[in-house]
Amino acid sequence: MTVLLAFLAHPDDESFGIGGTLAKYARAGVDVHYLCATRGESGTVDDHRLEGFADVAELRDGELACASKALGLKSYEYFGYRDSGMQGSTHNAHADSFAQADADEAARRLTEVVLRLRPDVIITHDQYGGYGHPDHIACHKATLRMYEQLWGVRISSGPRGEAIAVSGDASGPISPGDLKAPRLYYSTLPKTFVKWGVRFLRLTGQNPRGFGRNKDIDLVKIASWDLPVTARIDIRAVADIKREASACHASQQMPQQNQSLFQRIFFRRQTVESFTQAYPAFPANGRITSDLLRD
Ligand SMILES: [Zn+2]
Repeated sequence: MTVLLAFLAHPDDESFGIGGTLAKYARAGVDVHYLCATRGESGTVDDHRLEGFADVAELRDGELACASKALGLKSYEYFGYRDSGMQGSTHNAHADSFAQADADEAARRLTEVVLRLRPDVIITHDQYGGYGHPDHIACHKATLRMYEQLWGVRISSGPRGEAIAVSGDASGPISPGDLKAPRLYYSTLPKTFVKWGVRFLRLTGQNPRGFGRNKDIDLVKIASWDLPVTARIDIRAVADIKREASACHASQQMPQQNQSLFQRIFFRRQTVESFTQAYPAFPANGRITSDLLRD
């Protein structure tokens, strides 16, 4: 039995970001689990959507249950932190927010989950938090801390942002339960595409520094973050499933008529999801792979 664990920050990251990949592996018989760091309670939601729900967290839990079913996940569970919102948000300062969390404590909690589920592969956010979200960065930090504590594997970033496993060819301590260090991937945004988006938005008179549903995504900054893609997963065969799962997160989607052409193209025409291999270290001059389970 092969086990894949996705450790991401919010209800919707599993669908909007890597839904095609999760669905593809689930369909292939892999046990796919989602560990969701927060309940997404700081997300903005139109009032009418909250009818019948106690709060935003309950609404978004219902959406995640729907998406989890669509994607064919074996399980999803929450990690117990509070959604921090984007930088500058007052939610950042909340004592329970993931952005405020002690990385050692988060790594300890993650270890418990990992020893229970025994994943062969872990997917988490990259060091930039995808588009800079503090909770995404906190997932990344907790994961790296766990690799260090559990297996003595230190993963750092190279000059181009690439992941480099500094040590850990089984040289670290063997974890309780004799669990080998799982393969580790970061979900990444392909930068050529982001750069193309910046040009497209400027040409069409839109602001690439205020992108997205909440106009808080700075595509110009994101385009400057360099992280090499080492794996591309073809999601064409499961594109419908990804769309279905994404549609479950109705409260987080921009109404179609408000979407820019760029967003519509991105979501309709996306054929691959991109990843950076962090562990084991990706060989220098290695070829881009098409499977997260093997080299
Ligand atoms: Zn997120």
